[in-house]
Amino acid sequence: MTACALNFQLSTLNFCMIPPGKTIGVLGGGQLGRMFAHAAERLGYRIHIYEPEANGPAGEVSALETNRPYTDIEALTTFAKSVDVVTYEFENIPAEPLWAIEKHVQLHPHWNVLETCQNRMREKNWLRKNNFSPVPFAEVEAGDDLAAAIRKMGLPCVVKTADFGYDGKGQIKVADDASLAKAVASFAKQRCVIEKFIDFKCELSVVVARSSTGEVKAFSVAENIHTKHILDFSIVPARIPAETAAAAETLALAIVEKLNVVGLLAIELFLTDRGELLVNELAPRPHNSGHWTLDACATSQFEQHVRAVCGLPLGDVSVIAPVVMVNILGDAWKWQGNVITGEPNWQAVLAHPRAKLHLYGKKEPRIGRKMGHFTVTAATPGTALEAARELKARL
Ligand code: AMP
Repeated sequence: MTACALNFQLSTLNFCMIPPGKTIGVLGGGQLGRMFAHAAERLGYRIHIYEPEANGPAGEVSALETNRPYTDIEALTTFAKSVDVVTYEFENIPAEPLWAIEKHVQLHPHWNVLETCQNRMREKNWLRKNNFSPVPFAEVEAGDDLAAAIRKMGLPCVVKTADFGYDGKGQIKVADDASLAKAVASFAKQRCVIEKFIDFKCELSVVVARSSTGEVKAFSVAENIHTKHILDFSIVPARIPAETAAAAETLALAIVEKLNVVGLLAIELFLTDRGELLVNELAPRPHNSGHWTLDACATSQFEQHVRAVCGLPLGDVSVIAPVVMVNILGDAWKWQGNVITGEPNWQAVLAHPRAKLHLYGKKEPRIGRKMGHFTVTAATPGTALEAARELKARL
């Protein structure tokens, strides 16, 4: 690491600006790392990916890659010494080894942000303690009477493992005796949270950036439609009253400040019929529901992440046009049983004058695996959604 060009103080930490030309280390080598690497390289940075598996989407487009486990302190130390700042694109990284990184180089967001957000119990307790209205929940320790705790919460509810859950993995909705028995059989030996099932009006998310200089900016609120717990469509601007959008942004900015994040933070929310905003989840990294920014915003979330962790001025977050983002899962390939017999119809998206296709270079499509996404811009969010649904059906 070289000497800092410019030093300043934020909270109790000293940070420095990392000018273009320096090397950014990224923990995690998936599609978020790949899109981050594209944005960083455009600003003149070099990227060094640290990722256990070889041949991932991010390593393929980066200058340097290390393939070692996240628990290998020696390899993490060598990696830390080879870069000027470190960030992450994935939160299921053990937080403890990250101390080894912080001994040598700035890590953004700080490892304790990762530690809070990677465990549902810690995250929800943090939200509750700071009055940020999480979805009502109860905690259950491994070996506690899960069935009794579920009955106490009342049906319907959602049982989620405390650790390592995403995209609906590690969660079961309990609406009757059969699903209760399934949840008990699956989770009785694990720490869990039980949430009230929220019959929400819609799901929303806000991606906010906070730079190491303390500057903050929120991207427009996205309205999200999930299918089988995986994000299917993000619609921007969200079709909600302006006061609700403003309240969601204010809440997101308050959370990013309180959590002392440097980098990006995505806040997933449920909007109830009564107009309440309940926090479902936090993710301290670029977020799937922010991919629309690549094609319909003055600055993409990935560029903003680069700017935030390097202490550059944050970019303009103006929306250029109403937009819908659609995830492309492995399901879009033609399957016969377990065998792939054909590619998706890329022509349909490529031929559309207002659609943009993004593929992540993953070699092996699988059902439920995120392989890419596309966006469609239009005069209104409603017409963009219509066009997106039509293109998805033709894929
Ligand atoms: P998660 O992995 O916790 O973000 O959950 C994935 C998706 O499952 C969410 O985006 C919601 O669509 C749904 N979901 C999760 N928790 C709840 C809940 N308590 N009430 C209703 N739907 C939920």
